[in-house]
This record gives sequence, structure tokens and C-alpha cells, in this order.
Amino acid sequence: MISDSTFRALSSLETPFYYYDLDVLRNTLDSITKHGISKGYHIHYALKANHQPKILGYILAAGLSADCVSGGEVEHALSCGFNPDQIAFAGVGKRDIEILTGLNNDIFCFNVESVQELKVINGLAAANNKKARVALRLNPNVDAKTHRYITTGLEENKFGINEEELPSIFELLPALTAIELIGIHFHIGSQIEQIEPFTHLCNRANELNKLFDEKGFDISVINVGGGFGIDYSNPDSSGVPDFEHYFGTFHKHIKLKPHQKLHFELGRSIIGQSGSLVTRVLFTKEGRQKKFAIVDAGMTELIRPALYQAKHEIELLSKNSRPAKKYDVVGPICESSDIFRTDYELPELKRGDLLAIRSCGAYGEVMKSNYNLRHHIETIYSDELVELKMD
Ligand SMILES: *Cc1c(COP(=O)(O)O)cnc(C)c1O
Repeated sequence: MISDSTFRALSSLETPFYYYDLDVLRNTLDSITKHGISKGYHIHYALKANHQPKILGYILAAGLSADCVSGGEVEHALSCGFNPDQIAFAGVGKRDIEILTGLNNDIFCFNVESVQELKVINGLAAANNKKARVALRLNPNVDAKTHRYITTGLEENKFGINEEELPSIFELLPALTAIELIGIHFHIGSQIEQIEPFTHLCNRANELNKLFDEKGFDISVINVGGGFGIDYSNPDSSGVPDFEHYFGTFHKHIKLKPHQKLHFELGRSIIGQSGSLVTRVLFTKEGRQKKFAIVDAGMTELIRPALYQAKHEIELLSKNSRPAKKYDVVGPICESSDIFRTDYELPELKRGDLLAIRSCGAYGEVMKSNYNLRHHIETIYSDELVELKMD
């Protein structure tokens, strides 16, 4: 919920812009500390969800590590203060130059997604007198029960190594002398709202952990990835995801040997509820069937609705007592998919009204583009408003 004084401070700013509530971020990190880090778990933050240096500063200070999916993210994590030994590097298609970035910086671990990638990393590491620490990304064939574009742990998906390939990898590994196998890795998808897929994942991880042990590979890292969802329908009452239940599920079901550490890679659940996209109503338009509210943010600022049919709550910030009406809230971009919500109930809207599209902290600002040569938009943090409020 955005308070009246915050609204007054925001209403003087040029729209659209991203707004981050740092109290929500702090409360989220406190909960992760209490329920996850306290259990000895290593939590890597998935930078791809949001890489704002200020946000990374809070996450780093809370004791989290980094999960990167490109050489650019590895470089960014380093420049924002993460230690090389905190960085995991995942991704189904790493270029040689990106692998070298990881090797030259002696990062903690490469999460490797295919046999060919394993051979290429071995070759590059050997040529540079390096040893690459590696976790194999295994495809556990667990259905994450989420949107098909963000399901990643099924055999039909492009990610990870399938179980049938393991015997040949076990044979190959001793010859790859520049590879040090340290772990197994999983990531079954994103915006997973039920706990059940995570329970399945624990069972599969236990089986595969046992298999590696039987084959004589001593692994110290079990990385169960990320994917924990947020409640897009209730951004205020569910501002902090239920990490007690999430980490508790792993605590209950995962079987670790004394020297093994459990790693996570969370993105959305850490930053998702902290961000809003603040936008202004440009025009209202009434057709025979529909009322449209045309706002000044579009799919160029927030693509999730167009890309995954995602539904974000929209809050009218200029509180009033006008009667409720149903609107299609749409952006200005020349694409029919540029719609935030259809038939969405809001108090009657007028030109100039300020709206907050909620739960945009993850996969929001990072996916913006300048399609239509859209102008750059600002990023505003709640602690900057203290000054604005005093004006
Ligand atoms: C995207 C991604 C994550 C983070 O996913 P969230 O749903 O944001 O928690 C973790 N690990 C890997 C390998 C990823 O690609």
C-alpha cells in the first residue's frame, strides 16, 4: 500500500517510473535470514530478476551470494561487490568469452547444462591453467505447474542434462582433468505457487545424490535453484513470501551428508513485491463494449502481461470516492498485446490520475526496451522520498 504522503511525493514526478519500497525488501531479506540462512543454507540471488546496484547492495549486505546467467552478469556482480567465490554461473548457452570471464575470475561454480559444454569448459580451463569448479544441471523431470514459458525442469525443455546421459558422463569425467565436479544443480521453473513440486524435487535430488555417491563422486553442493513464487493478487497482505514454509519443506525432505551444503537461487521471491511501475492515465476512451484507460507506461516498461499473460494488481493512488467502473488498462505501444489488465475494476478514472502497477520488482525493469524509441524512465527508491516529502 502506498501511503498518502508517499503519493503526494510521487505525484510531482515525471511518469512513468519504477518505484522500489526498500522496507519491503528489508522485511523479505530478514525473513530469508531467519528461515534460510539460519539453517546454514547458501542463498544465491538471481541477478537476472533485477540488477539495480542499490538493490544488490542490500542483498549483499544481508549475506546472500549471486547467481548469474551471462558474462555480463558475472562482471556486474563483481563490480557491485560480490566475491568471486560467491558467484554461480548458469545458462544453457555460454559463449567462450563468458566462460573465460568466469575462469579468469575464479568464480565459485559453473552450472553446466550439456556434455558438450562440459568438454568446452574443460578445454578452456586447461588452456588457461585453471581448474573449473562445476555443478551439473540435472533435469529432474518434475512438473513445476506454472506457465509453460517458465517451466524448465521437464525433459521436453531445453535446460539441463537428462538422466539417460549420466552413465556416459560418469565415464567421461575422469578424463576431464581441468574440471572439478563439486555439485549437482536443479532449477525447475519460476513463479511456482505450490509447495508440492519442491517436495518432488527434494525426492529426485536425494535419488540423484545417492547415485553420484554410488558412482564414487564426492559432491559437496546440492543446488536446488529458485522459482519460489509471489502472490501477485495480494501485494500488500502477502508482501513477504512464506519462506518459513518454503525452506521448511527442504529442511524436512532433503537428505544431506554432513559435509554437503544446500544452495538456493532465488530471484522473484526476493525482489518481486518491492517494486511498482507508476504510470499516469493519459486518456480514457469509451467504446460500445469497452472502456479503455490508456496509460503512459506500456509493454516496453513491463512486458510480463504481454509475454506470459501475467496479471498485476493496479492501484489508483489518487484516492477518491468515484463509482467503480471496469476498464481495459492499456499502454501506448503499437501492439495489440500491449494490455495490462482487461475488465479491471477501478474507481472512475480521469486524465492525469496516478496508478501503481504492483509486484513489478522482478522481471520488470530488467526487461524494459526502447521499442518505439521510448524514452528512458527513472528509478525511484523509497528512501529518496524523505527529501521529496519535505519540499
Ligand atoms: C531464473 C533463474 C533462477 C531464479 O528464478 P526465480 O523464479 O526468479 O526464483 C534461478 N536459477 C536459474 C538457473 C535461473 O535461470
